[in-house]
Order: sequence, then structure tokens, then C-alpha cells
Amino acid sequence: MERIRNYIRGQWVDTRSEETFASMNPANREEVVGIISKSGREDIDEAVEAAREAYGKWRLTPAPRRGEILFRAAELLAKHKEELGRLETREMGKILPEALGDVQEAIDMGYYMAGEGRRLAGETIPSELPDKDMKSVRVPVGVFGLITPWNFPIAIPAWKIFPALICGNTMIFKPSSETSVCAAAFVDIFRQAGLPAGILNLVHGPGAEIGEYLVSHPGVDAVSFTGSYDVGRRLQQTCGTISRPIVAEMGGKNIILVMEDAPLELAIEGALWGGFGTSGQRCTAASRIGVQKEIYDAFSEKFRVTASRLRVGDGLKKETQMGPVVNESQFNKVLKYIQIGKEEGARLILGGNPCRHGETSRGYFIEPTIFADVDPGMRIAQEEIFGPVVSLIRTKDLQDAIRIANGTPYGLSAAIYTRDVNLTAIAERDLDFGIVYINAPTIGAEIQLPFGGIKHSGSGKKEAGGRGGALETYSQFKVIYRDFSGRLQKAQIEKE
Ligand code: NAD
Repeated sequence: MERIRNYIRGQWVDTRSEETFASMNPANREEVVGIISKSGREDIDEAVEAAREAYGKWRLTPAPRRGEILFRAAELLAKHKEELGRLETREMGKILPEALGDVQEAIDMGYYMAGEGRRLAGETIPSELPDKDMKSVRVPVGVFGLITPWNFPIAIPAWKIFPALICGNTMIFKPSSETSVCAAAFVDIFRQAGLPAGILNLVHGPGAEIGEYLVSHPGVDAVSFTGSYDVGRRLQQTCGTISRPIVAEMGGKNIILVMEDAPLELAIEGALWGGFGTSGQRCTAASRIGVQKEIYDAFSEKFRVTASRLRVGDGLKKETQMGPVVNESQFNKVLKYIQIGKEEGARLILGGNPCRHGETSRGYFIEPTIFADVDPGMRIAQEEIFGPVVSLIRTKDLQDAIRIANGTPYGLSAAIYTRDVNLTAIAERDLDFGIVYINAPTIGAEIQLPFGGIKHSGSGKKEAGGRGGALETYSQFKVIYRDFSGRLQKAQIEKE
């Protein structure tokens, strides 16, 4: 089996130590997807040095020329979409259509950011003084440390790498160890697209050992992190003490609100894919469904029956609708939360066990699980479980539903199903979430709008989108005043 190596200065290189780790297929505990070289601090030093060296030239490469390389990368992603999708399913378990969707998001981001190369505009504006002009220009930030999770192993790196590149930054990319093989395949696309050496460097290894070292490295100017709240908060603290900009996208406890006049079939379908899509391992997964009391019983029963029909299995099989969770620790964590739910007194109406039939006994499969009569204060309704576990909560009216929705520390994605346009307006205004969906599940963001959460879900700056989104994260404004009067103008002395 070919060793997965670091990518530094345009070369696939071995790490200093001989140590390796394995990436396994969660649908089959015995299948090794890749053996990966494990980085230590010296490898990070080398990658940072490479990114620093490359920065001088890349920042001066005209943005439209940078865009051409990004365009080629998007073309190559499209060409290799099927094989990348299959690799993703093998490495992290999501079903093939979802994995292909993940690659498609990277393709979309590539084309979008390639175009931004011709639109990285600042502003010119009239001066108060004669013979003086002034403008703001967008410039890169410098060398970025990029740290990503495993649940969208190609799209999330693409959300960071494409905008960072178009703005003229160089970078060190540290993916989750669970999806190192996907990360290497993605980075290789940029090599094939002709991205010059040193601009994008890839290092593999455990976050606790090398991630923190990368984030606080003196050669790094800024950090972009996506992952759990606990790690994000820690990195925000680290960056705070050294005044280093960090954008952090973190966990969620998302909710779908179903009002009594909701189109029921649509709401059930939304709850199904919002709750159990990617085995509940999306940051935007609808792990809570708040249902108005008048239709609560009818909804619960229909939802239970529909979810019980989900076909669980290897995501490469055409008929499969839900794959495994990503690894043993996630498997144990989800089962622990199911136990907590039972102990808290929630009513288990579906699932609750590891799958044990046929091929599913070989992997980390958990039955689609639904708890009914969940109190909004229970741990299963407050904490991010990140697995196929949905809590049904009874709500009185819109006001009560919004209060429950807002009553967790998180604020990533919320949805409402109703036919009443007035209710949608109130929900849109009062739901404390970075993203609100109306008559659609909590999932399905498009890359041309900014993406991100508030409260414990995000730090304010956004991923994706152009102006107002990723461009604000990966570039900064420099302001230039030019006086061509040839004399010191009095008004200049009087100001500031
Ligand atoms: P995680 O926080 O465990 O790991 C994320 C990344 O951080 C990995 O690359 C990991 O190696 C690294 N890391 C771990 N400890 C570190 C440390 N001490 N210093 C530096 N880096 C460290 O998260 P995960 O399990 O990979 O992903 C799941 C989490 O990601 C969930 O909480 C999910 O909600 C969140 N997520 C959020 C978004 C979003 O956009 N808001 C998107 C996807 C996933």
C-alpha cells in the first residue's frame, strides 16, 4: 500500500520520524484505507518555512492569474469527482451521493473563487483636498494555518484553501487524521493544476500533538479552524494571547421547528435528512425537532415509521441510505449519549443499538435513533452528539418554539416548517442562529453566501461567500493616500 506523505515545497516527503498511523474504513474495521506518515514539530517547521518562502512571490502573482490555476483545479476535481467521492465514502463512511455532493461543493467553490480573482476590488473615493487621491486595496494576510475536521473532508478544506489562495496567501493545511487520504488526494489536484511549490503545504498528524504547535508557530500569521467547540475555544485562547487572527467554525445543536400548519410530508422528509443524513454527523444536523403540540403525536409516529425504513449499510452500495459513524470513539460517544437519554427519562421510540445484522456488524453502525418527549434541558437536547440520534420536543406555539430553539449555547442552523408567512418572518428575525431555513431542513447551504454560526458555533467571521464572507477572512484592506500637489496641505496637519 502506498504511503501517504506530507506535501511540502511541491514534493511528497517523508516525515522525520518513521512513525505512521492508519486510516480505516468505518464500514469495515478490517479495511485499511491508507498508512500515513506522522508529522512531528520539525515537519511543521519545514512546512511553515516553505509557506513563508513562497509567500513573497505568490502575493505578487496577479489575482486573475491565480484564478486561472484555481479554475484548472476545479476542472480536475470535476474530472476526478467519482473517484474522490468513492475514496471519501471508504475513508469516512458517508453514502456515495453525499460524498459526491461534498466533492461538488469543492468544485463550486473552485469556480467561484477563480472568478473572484477578477473581482478582488477595493474602493476609490474622492479626497477632501485638491490634488490628492485615495483608495483601499485588498491584500493577503500572509501565511495561514488551516485545520479541518473529518465530516466534510473535501468541501471544508476547499472552503478554506480556494479563498485563501485567490487572496494571495500561502498555507499549511492540517486535516483530521481520520481523513488524511482524502486530504492528500485533494492537495494532489492543486499539484496537477500547476500550483507553484510551497504555496499549499500539507502535514498529517494528530491535532493535539501538531495542531496546537502549528497554530502558535511564529511563522504563521493567521488561523482558520473548523471542528469542535472545545478545540476551537482552546485555539481561540491560544491565538488571543498572541494577537493572532483566527476564524473558528465549531459545533452545533440545530433544530427544526414544525408548526401545526406545516406541510407534514415535507417536514418529515426534512427531519429525516436533516437528522440522519451523514449519520447525523453534519455540523448542521437537525438533532432536535420541535413539534407543535397539536400535531406532535401524528408527527412522531410518522417520523418513527419513516426513519425505521432507512437502509443502513456500506455507503458504496446503491441502496444504502445511511452509513456508519466515523470511528470507534464516535461510536462509543453516541452510544453513551443514548444511555444518557434513557437515564434522563426520554422515551426511546426507535433504535438505540449498534447494528448487528450482516455486513453492518463489521463496522461502526448505529441504528437510526429517536427519543420522544425530550425535555429541552436534557443533556441529549443540549449537547452535540454528532450521530444518528434525534430528540423530539413538544412545543406550545411559535414563541415557545423559538425560546427552546435559542436555549442552547450553540447557534449554527435552524429551520421552520409552516405555511404562515407571518410566522416565517418572526422566526427569521428571532432565531439566534447563523443560518435559518424556511420550509427546508437545517442542511443545504450554498457556497455563494457566507456560512457560519454564532454563540458557541462560530467566531463571527464567515466561511464561503465572497464579499462579507470568505474574502473578509482571507484578505485585509490596506488604505493608500497619494498627494500629488507637491506641497504640504494645511488641512493635513490639522487632522488626526
Ligand atoms: P475536532 O475538534 O476533534 O478536530 C478538528 C481538527 O482539529 C482536526 O484536524 C484535529 O486533528 C484538530 N485538533 C484536535 N485537537 C487539537 C488541538 N489541541 N490543537 C489543534 N488542533 C487540534 O473535531 P472533529 O471531530 O474532527 O469534527 C467534528 C466537529 O466539527 C463537530 O463539533 C462539528 O460540529 C464541527 N464542525 C463544524 C463545522 C462548521 O462549519 N461550524 C463544520 C464541520 C464540522
